Amino acid sequence: MDALPEIVRGVSLSEHTSLGLGGEAEAYITVREVAELKAALRYAERRGMPVLLLGGGSNLVVADGGFAGLVIALGMRGVELQREGDVALLTARAGESWDAVVEYSVGEGLAGLECLSGIPGLAGATPVQNVGAYGQEVSQRLRQVDVLDRANLERRCMTPEACEFGYRDSLFKREPERFVVLSVTFALTPGGAPSLRYAPLRDAFTDQTPSLSRVREQVLRLRRAKSMLLDPSDPNSRSAGSFFTNPIVDRTTLNEVLRRAVEAGVIESVDEMPHYALDDGRIKLAAGWLIERAGVAKGTRRGAVGVSAHHALALVHHGGGRTADLLALARDVRAKVRERFGVELLPEPVMVGFERAPL
Ligand code: NAP
Repeated sequence: MDALPEIVRGVSLSEHTSLGLGGEAEAYITVREVAELKAALRYAERRGMPVLLLGGGSNLVVADGGFAGLVIALGMRGVELQREGDVALLTARAGESWDAVVEYSVGEGLAGLECLSGIPGLAGATPVQNVGAYGQEVSQRLRQVDVLDRANLERRCMTPEACEFGYRDSLFKREPERFVVLSVTFALTPGGAPSLRYAPLRDAFTDQTPSLSRVREQVLRLRRAKSMLLDPSDPNSRSAGSFFTNPIVDRTTLNEVLRRAVEAGVIESVDEMPHYALDDGRIKLAAGWLIERAGVAKGTRRGAVGVSAHHALALVHHGGGRTADLLALARDVRAKVRERFGVELLPEPVMVGFERAPL
């Protein structure tokens, strides 16, 4: 029988989330090996306890009442590099810090992850919502995702096709109870050029091809300026990152949003509203833009919570507050965007410990 690590009671999940909010876990365990993970899952199964798989806690909103179940903190560490012809295969176990993985890849001169610098959380969480930034997405470089299938506690290697990636979406997100990501393997390009698809990144360089490390530094600078780097000295960074996903709409809805924006005097002509065509013909709107133009200013404070002073898409906990306060603010933001533009914002973080969806 696999060894079960120590079970700790009374752990406050506020200490394990970037928001610093949330009540206690009924039971809390840290696993460092797959055998320990299996033992923990069996333990929960035997007792009929719900399970929360905890990574970096940077994308979690935990209820004030905490989580009535077993929290399994994923602590499997390790990074491995292999060459396969012209490609470098970089494997990171789930509990590695994501940014440490990106830093390592850039240090090794491997192109493919540089724009994903500074994203908080652990490597194992990145395929779940197909993390992306500045035009790069993990799915573009993933070769394989190793998972534990919770249905039979067997390991499986999944190809990118099997992961069914979409925009900030994957099979793992749609079936949250099914898989535990054990490791991720990326196919990277030794000596490759950095990706400079997004204007804020491209415009920072006058030379044609800056080095990977200069691009990484610039991404970190951009993120820091928006308080999107976790930094204890920056009160605006006590957030769950983007609180809402960018809405994806069809052309009819886009036209309606544009009509409302002009009618409300938010814009004078339609090209003033940021929107981006996706390959499937739908259009992506910028949630942060909609929030600000719906009248929610950056830096808005409501007691212990507020909107980041540097990014309208991040809701911030200033200390001493409750999850209920944050959710009340989120509902208000959502209602304002709905009223002005007729668009329903969807929350991006994972909600934990609620009997029904709180938003
Ligand atoms: P921003 O630069 O203020 O731009 C606002 C939105 O416009 C972004 O969300 C981005 O969509 C979109 N956009 C800008 N230029 C684009 C282009 N050339 N083509 C297509 N879409 C474009 O964005 P931000 O909120 O500060 O975030 C910066 C980057 O970090 C973004 O790429 C954002 O997605 C990323 N980020 C990702 C996560 C996550 O994966 N969970 C969390 C926080 C921030 P996209 O979101 O599709 O890039």
